[in-house]
Amino acid sequence: MSDERQRLVENWVRAEIRALRAYHVQPAQGLIKLDAMENPYTWPAELRAAWTEVLQAADVNRYPDPTAAALTAPLRDVMGVPEDMRVILGNGSDELIQMIAMSLAGPSRSVLSVEPGFVMYRMIATFCGMRYVGVPLAAADFSLDLAAVLQAIDAHQPAVVFLAYPNNPTGNLFDAAAIEQVIRAAPGLVVVDEAYAPFTDATFMPRLGEFDNLVVMRTVSKMGLAGLRLGLLAGPAEWLDEFDKVRLPYNINVLTQASAAFALRHKAVFDAQTAAIRTERPRLAAALAEHDGVTVFASDANFLLVRTPPGRARVWFDGLRERGVLIKNLDGAHPLLADCLRPTVGTPAENDALIAALREVVEGA
Ligand SMILES: *Cc1c(COP(=O)(O)O)cnc(C)c1O
Repeated sequence: MSDERQRLVENWVRAEIRALRAYHVQPAQGLIKLDAMENPYTWPAELRAAWTEVLQAADVNRYPDPTAAALTAPLRDVMGVPEDMRVILGNGSDELIQMIAMSLAGPSRSVLSVEPGFVMYRMIATFCGMRYVGVPLAAADFSLDLAAVLQAIDAHQPAVVFLAYPNNPTGNLFDAAAIEQVIRAAPGLVVVDEAYAPFTDATFMPRLGEFDNLVVMRTVSKMGLAGLRLGLLAGPAEWLDEFDKVRLPYNINVLTQASAAFALRHKAVFDAQTAAIRTERPRLAAALAEHDGVTVFASDANFLLVRTPPGRARVWFDGLRERGVLIKNLDGAHPLLADCLRPTVGTPAENDALIAALREVVEGA
C-alpha cells in the first residue's frame, strides 16, 4: 500500500518540489529565542487590554474587507508610500513574493538574486517553476558584486530581481548607487525588499516612480508584528494591478486587519521598541567582537552576522543552546557563510545572557 502511495507521489509531485527540503524552524521551547529576527518585546498590559476590546468587536462570521481599506490608509502613512503609488497587502511579504513570481513565471523565465540572500526568493522561484540565478556577494564584506550582477542580468535577462535592503542573512546595506545601476540594467522588475526598514534610515520608498521597473516591499514582521502575517508591496499601478489579480480574495484575515490597524494607532510603542533594539545593536556587536578571531559584520538590521574562528560555529551554537540561548547557525548554509552565526538583537537582558553564555562557551573550550 505505502509503496503504491510512494509511486503515485513520485509520479505526480514535480521533481523540483520533491527535491526541496521544507522550510525548517528549530524548536525553541524554554530557550531565549534569538534565532528568527523577532522583536523581543511583548505588548504592555494596557495595550493588550485595549486590543482585546478591538478583537471583541470583530465580526469573524463575515469575510474580511477585501481591500482592507481601514488598514491600508494608516499603513501607507507609516511606511511613507508616495501618494501616486499603489499598494497591495500580503499574508506576510512571503505571499507578495509568491504573487510576483506567479505573475511573471513562464517557461525559461528566471528570478535573480544575490547569495547569500533571503532563501524564500529561491524557494518561491522553484514553487512557480522558474529558474533561479544566485549571484555571489563579494567575499570580503558581502557587498554587491556589481560587475557580476550586471553580467548575470545580461546573460539571463531575469523576469525579476530581488534585492533585500538591508540584506538577510548578512545585515548590510548594498550601495544605493549600485542598486540604481541594477534597476537601470534589469530588463524586468526589480523588487527592493525592505523587511528591516525599522532598523535603518536607508530606503528606496521615496524613489518609487523614478524608475518604470521598481517596486518596494515592506513587512510589519520585524517591527514587532510577526505573528499577524502582514506585508506590503508599493509601486506603480501598472505592475500592481496585474499582481492584484493573482491575490487570493480575503488574503488578510479579519483579526489581522483589526489588530494591525490597532497597532498602527499605537505606533509610538513599536518605535520605542525598535529604537531600543537599534541602541542594543552596537553594544552587542562590541561585546561579541571582543573574542579573539571573531568578526562581527556591519549591520543595519536587527541581527548580527558573526564569523567565529575556523571550525567553532557549530561548537559555539551548541554551547549557547545548552546554556539556554538559541541563535541561528549559518555554517554550511552557503560557502561564503563558513563559520558564521546569526544572533538576533534581543532585549538588554537577553543580550546579556547571550554575551555571558558565549563567554562560558569560549572559555570552557
Ligand atoms: C523576514 C523577511 C521577510 C519575510 O517577511 P514576512 O512578512 O514575515 O513574510 C522578507 N524578506 C526578508 C529579506 C526577510 O528577512
